[in-house]
Amino acid sequence: MVFEKVLYEKLENVARVTMNRPEVRNAQSYQMLRELDQAFKQATEDDEVRVIILAGAGPSFSAGHDLGSPEALEENRRFRAEQCSTVDGRLKYETEMFYDMCLRWREIPKPTIAQVQGYALMAGMMLACTCDLIIAAENAKFADMGTRWLVPSVEYFSHPWEFGLRKTKEMLFTGDFIDAQEAHRLGMVNRVVPLEKLEEETMNLAKRITLNDPFLLKLCKMTVNACQDAQGFRQTLAAAMPLHQLGHAYYYQKHGPYVPVDGSAKDFFEKRDARFKK
Ligand code: ZN
Repeated sequence: MVFEKVLYEKLENVARVTMNRPEVRNAQSYQMLRELDQAFKQATEDDEVRVIILAGAGPSFSAGHDLGSPEALEENRRFRAEQCSTVDGRLKYETEMFYDMCLRWREIPKPTIAQVQGYALMAGMMLACTCDLIIAAENAKFADMGTRWLVPSVEYFSHPWEFGLRKTKEMLFTGDFIDAQEAHRLGMVNRVVPLEKLEEETMNLAKRITLNDPFLLKLCKMTVNACQDAQGFRQTLAAAMPLHQLGHAYYYQKHGPYVPVDGSAKDFFEKRDARFKK
């Protein structure tokens, strides 16, 4: 498959999938998400690939869902705004695009590593959290600002396992950033490295992992995921998704359509965030 918004590289036994929309901090357009999913499928089905890295080109890993770039506005005009204007339509769209996709990535029978620099916001953080390991540059910043935007968190709600219950609540209640050092202290990221070493350190770790037997790695991953499932991971996700949708419906009732369709995205975001900048 030819990718336009994603770079797919095979470096010996490691596949590196890079979100490639640096001009918008790798905000996730429909097309980019589709290509990412396809790239992960390709890496999963390639027996030579033993580890998959998820990276973002440019200064930031990913700024989350793309609601305002020209590409996203065009997608909104073509199909998304209409589909997401009903509760049922949005539930269907987000289940397919985010919930199912993230769970599918979590179950990939090979180790995955997120290579994170700059901002990993909302759905940006969500994609990183589907990976088995996270390596963060010193300038990495994580945040879930959903409550500010009248949505309770993201579609794939793994936060309690990433940050712990209290920090999760603090993050959701305030929308404040968690920096790389704090994320490391909380166990959310495996390592923090200088920005200029991020790519090299991530690749070194990936290569170390490829020295192990792929089937045993798969069993390791299944074992830890089974532990997480026994702790209620999947039930939590399944319960959080309808609450997330209720948040969208609440927003719609209060403010009208959630996604801009008329090119006024900048105004939309400025108005939305203004009260937190006082
Ligand atoms: Zn949503």
